[in-house]
Amino acid sequence: MRVRFAPSPTGYLHIGGLRTALYNYLLAKRHGGVFVLRVEDTDQTRFVADAEQDILDSLSWAGLSFEEGPGVGGAFGPYRQSERSARYKEVAEELVRLGKAYFAFDSSEEIEAMKGRHTTAENPTPRYDFNTRLEMVNSLTLSEADVKARLDRGDEFVVRLLVEPGQVVSFQDAVRGNVSFDSQAVDDQVLVKSDGLPTYHLANIVDDHDMQITHVIRGEEWLSSTPKHILLYNALGWSAPQMAHLPLILSPTGGKLSKRNAEKQGIPVSVQQYIQHGYEPGALLNFLALLGWNPGNDQEIMDLEEMASVFSLDRVGQAGVQFDLQKLSWFNEQYLRAKNTKDIAESVLPLVKDRFGDYSLGHVEGAVKLMIERMTFEKDILDAPYLFEAPTAYDEKSVQKRWKTDSSDLLTAFSSEFESLSSWDAASIEGCLKAKVERDALGLGSIMFPVRLSLTGEPSGPDLFGMMELLGKNEVLARMQKAANELR
Ligand code: GLU
Repeated sequence: MRVRFAPSPTGYLHIGGLRTALYNYLLAKRHGGVFVLRVEDTDQTRFVADAEQDILDSLSWAGLSFEEGPGVGGAFGPYRQSERSARYKEVAEELVRLGKAYFAFDSSEEIEAMKGRHTTAENPTPRYDFNTRLEMVNSLTLSEADVKARLDRGDEFVVRLLVEPGQVVSFQDAVRGNVSFDSQAVDDQVLVKSDGLPTYHLANIVDDHDMQITHVIRGEEWLSSTPKHILLYNALGWSAPQMAHLPLILSPTGGKLSKRNAEKQGIPVSVQQYIQHGYEPGALLNFLALLGWNPGNDQEIMDLEEMASVFSLDRVGQAGVQFDLQKLSWFNEQYLRAKNTKDIAESVLPLVKDRFGDYSLGHVEGAVKLMIERMTFEKDILDAPYLFEAPTAYDEKSVQKRWKTDSSDLLTAFSSEFESLSSWDAASIEGCLKAKVERDALGLGSIMFPVRLSLTGEPSGPDLFGMMELLGKNEVLARMQKAANELR
């Protein structure tokens, strides 16, 4: 089995592209196959200079390594189409020789004129095809000598596929089953453009053939190109790889998840945006894997290796799948909680230092441990500033509702109790507080709430006693005193 991910460097890698790469990767891993990266950069007009680097960086962040491709090499290289032009030219000439393709010299004015002549109510968009090709300037209508003369003097030309009408062409798609189409629906595709470069269709099939690709797994938007590819394979007498077209990714509000409507709904589009936002690569891959595929049971959390051990194309659905950002957040939370807290602390330490000043790794890890159940992203640790600095204000609504006339006195009384504690850990603090509550026959809330508010400025947050241990006795007493004075 040999599969390939074949992005065009016309922009940054987006999540749909990452899903395609992932499915290819998983299938290769499942069957001990080879995953190839091929850069389809024949469209000079849409070329974006740093897009290839972005694709490589994004795949590497995700951990989707390929066995063959740019920078890695392999027996079927080069893996950039711009470096394979000679081969496409050779195949195009072969097609002409076989009578399956022809040279066309028409100017754009001549093509417009043809369309003008043929436009009717029943035929609003006439095409360059079996109906019209014989009235055009091409190697089917010109003499051999004329064609040669034009080629020799360097006239501009394109190579077009000669599509015979009346054939039913069909193929078996691993996701969609039998797909068939009438060749009449296909026009005489341009295979080589006037700049001498191949179109996507020609380069794509030549490379899939030459690179011995066995399975083509790509997005549904390419399904309509497949008839053209099958015709090309047939014309060359080559057998086509197994096709598999992945279901569309739909917007939560319906319709295809386009760049525009994703942005409107706050859904990041490029993989780089997910990286910057702080998504865990494992979470994003796990989420994307289930966006169109299911393992056949209700297991949701699966790392790359687990997914690769059960992945199969027959569990890929045909129906479009809705993108659910909340579900992705859930995955991220699960992956974050499974991480080592020290690793998280190390990764957020620079952020903490930048925002709050110099804190030790130990303190930051303590903060992470307290907050982990409340975090979706690593950077969410910054949402608990009180773990690093005293609150500058107290939540107004809670003060009004729950700060009682005796709250300040209670804080002072409990302060002296805490002061006398010889060891400062969560269990001792809790024991001390509860003992006094019992002795004085108080309600637990009547002191827990003022303490929390004094320490954080907020009515809710992480475990109170654990937080007190982390902040240290001096800091806790100072914050309690401050609140007692300010809110009295
Ligand atoms: N270059 C095409 C793309 O940008 C490849 C489609 C295919 O996989 O054949 O997605």
